Amino acid sequence: MAVYVFGHKNPDSDSICAAIAVADLKSKLGVEAVPAAQGELNPESKFVLEKFGIDAPEIISSGEGKQVILVDHSDLAQSLDDLSKAEILGIVDHHKLGDVTTPNPLECWIWPVGCTCTVIKSMYDFFGVEIPKNIAGIMLCAILSDTVIFKSATCTDRDKEAAEALAKIAGVDDLMGLGMEMFKVKSAVEGTPAKDLLFRDYKDFDMSGNKVGIGQLEVVDLSILEPVKDALYEEMKKAKEEGGRHSVFLLLTDIMKEGSEMLIVSDDPSVVEKAFGKAPEGNSVWLEGVMSRKKQVVPNFEKAFAG
Ligand code: MG
Ligand code: MG
Ligand code: MG
Repeated sequence: MAVYVFGHKNPDSDSICAAIAVADLKSKLGVEAVPAAQGELNPESKFVLEKFGIDAPEIISSGEGKQVILVDHSDLAQSLDDLSKAEILGIVDHHKLGDVTTPNPLECWIWPVGCTCTVIKSMYDFFGVEIPKNIAGIMLCAILSDTVIFKSATCTDRDKEAAEALAKIAGVDDLMGLGMEMFKVKSAVEGTPAKDLLFRDYKDFDMSGNKVGIGQLEVVDLSILEPVKDALYEEMKKAKEEGGRHSVFLLLTDIMKEGSEMLIVSDDPSVVEKAFGKAPEGNSVWLEGVMSRKKQVVPNFEKAFAG
């Protein structure tokens, strides 16, 4: 029976590339493993796979009767709805430990680094397995994406070391150039429905019993998003009502200015000031230096919601 390896809902490049890499490593260790994804690839991930000539993973929506390895998440809210019907053999991740539990021991690689693919680089080394050139390329791209070309607060020296080693294997000389190429693809929003943009990089969280959604769009210049802001706000309101959410927040991150404008739809907008010490102006607030949802946004909101 094949083991399915997959990342979180609304997959990003790390979820896609980590699934492909772990499935490759496991296959070489004698385990029949298949990379999978919970949904369509975003434009950045498509670009990355095409650049290195790798097929998109198959899309799965059920874990029933499957053996699985989770990558880039361990939160139930971000996993398959029927994950309880699957057998979890392992987790490879770089987020806070979520609420997944297992009846049996499992192989867990969860490190406080900027990207799952940084952990996977060390897994290949640990098992003494050579990383194929094209897989090194997509792992490198995942690190550049997750760490916002090493600028994010989540980036560690380990991420930089892994990226450099992977670049060598992949034959990439210009890391910055590759990173900017990816973020330009990511920044192209024209012609994409606002709803798709809202959910492109979106996660739901349970914060003290409240369902809280936080999306993020990372662009090379915020002015790109100006024409779609109103439509995004309407979609956020819809998502809040239809999904029974307490709040929906959307981070519009300017990777060059290194900060985020956060759009706010909430039953209690005062949580924003509680979380960031800054009062919103209308339905948004500028958060200087904030680029990481995981490190600079989720913990603040969790505290604010807790009390
Ligand atoms: Mg991710
Ligand atoms: Mg990640
Ligand atoms: Mg990200």
